[in-house]
Amino acid sequence: MKSTTTHTAERRSILKYLAACVSSVALVSSSTLSFAAATLQKSRAEWRKLLPKESYDVLFEEDTEAPGSSALNTEKRKGTYICAACFLPLFDSAFKFDSGTGWPSFFDVLPGAIGKRDDTRLFITRTEYHCARCGGHQGHVFDDGPQPTGLRYCNNGVALQFVPAENELPELRS
Ligand SMILES: [Zn+2]
Repeated sequence: MKSTTTHTAERRSILKYLAACVSSVALVSSSTLSFAAATLQKSRAEWRKLLPKESYDVLFEEDTEAPGSSALNTEKRKGTYICAACFLPLFDSAFKFDSGTGWPSFFDVLPGAIGKRDDTRLFITRTEYHCARCGGHQGHVFDDGPQPTGLRYCNNGVALQFVPAENELPELRS
């Protein structure tokens, strides 16, 4: 029985890993959700003007950056990871871990910082999460992360900015 259980667990984690890999494939966005709960409402045209193209594409067209492409993968300093669009703090550096997936990964998120929804665009249902303030897409969360939460927030680096602990956090973008 034990080996069956182990095998099942392995199979499940392989499936999740594959899902994480497949998410690197650029997807044509079919999302028409407007994130009505977001408190900062801007049109896509406004965001397009404010953000670098690669950040805009991930945040508001739900693109996924290529794995291993973000400098934040190797960022190890103390500080805060904020939404690249509206500057809301999302993750403390204490939550970061090396998941080996090629995307910045965290096991926890700051209180109230994100919203979640089911993403059924691939062959399995994944949980998408986005900035609670502006609705910008950040990544997907999986339940194969380390303790104490067991969660893995798999984030696009271009959707974040890192603010080292010695620097002041920027004012929220209005
Ligand atoms: Zn935001």
